[in-house]
Amino acid sequence: MEVSKGLSAKLIAAVSLIVSLFSANVFAQPLPQLNITKVSEHVYSAIGETKASTYENWGHNNNLSFIVSDSSVMVINGGSSYLLAKALHREIKKITALPVVWLVNENSQGHSMLGNSYWADLGVAVIAHEDAVSTFAEDGQRALERMYNFIKERGAGTKLHVPGHQFSNSKHIQLGNIQVQLLRFGEAHTAGDLSVWLPEQQIIITGDIAFHERLLAVFPETNTEQWLLSFEKMIALQPQIVVPGHGAPTDVATIKKYTYDYIVYLRSAVALILEQDGDLEAAYAIDQSTYKHLDTFDELAVKNAGRVFQQMEMDSF
Ligand SMILES: [Zn+2]
Repeated sequence: MEVSKGLSAKLIAAVSLIVSLFSANVFAQPLPQLNITKVSEHVYSAIGETKASTYENWGHNNNLSFIVSDSSVMVINGGSSYLLAKALHREIKKITALPVVWLVNENSQGHSMLGNSYWADLGVAVIAHEDAVSTFAEDGQRALERMYNFIKERGAGTKLHVPGHQFSNSKHIQLGNIQVQLLRFGEAHTAGDLSVWLPEQQIIITGDIAFHERLLAVFPETNTEQWLLSFEKMIALQPQIVVPGHGAPTDVATIKKYTYDYIVYLRSAVALILEQDGDLEAAYAIDQSTYKHLDTFDELAVKNAGRVFQQMEMDSF
């Protein structure tokens, strides 16, 4: 106990030193180049790489989207770092001179929240689901450490900013002439998943409830049973355009195939193994070749099967 306390204190001291060294250089750092995809008349997204966070991609491995109304702008996701948020702002300014007034974090992950302080420093209101807020308040420091491991000095200037606004089930925001609804469908991928719904445009920015180009990850905290129910509620809205948490804009049929159908497939295969008193090894061997072409398949497929097995085995007691 004492040993681990001492160790973690040392670790925090070491990380603080690294953070302050990098922070000193924040203005000397170049910014990453971001390509902006125009999703609709009012919605844009900087589509991140559909793989892990790396030094080369600056931690830009998720979608950083924004909505431009007739009076103001809402940004969805702070991104992995201060400089990534700043790079997104540079792109927004090329499209509109209107002020960014809201930043929405689609969950509690580092690539959703670590860039928050850039926006908060400008007076932008930051909002997330209440579970994402409490999780990030507890685990944010660890997310920050992981980010510096990957992107080193490119993380310069990044400091933790826990969202100042939160909600439980839904939150309506009138963004100038555009109605925006922040919706919580239930548990899914990570603590505090939310989706941003534009009812007039029938566009949904799903957060990590929907995947298609990369294989989704089942984390120890991921509730795959609830995820299916949350997903059903989401597609009941019948969105015409889907901007997923990762990968290019798409449609409902595509995200259903690679999210809902994948989870159903894994859960059914595991259920069969459990019925036959099979073990974890059998779960690892589940044939997932239908999804082999997806990015992150090699890193995640076997792990996902193991986690679903462990969860369903616990649920069966
Ligand atoms: Zn994500």
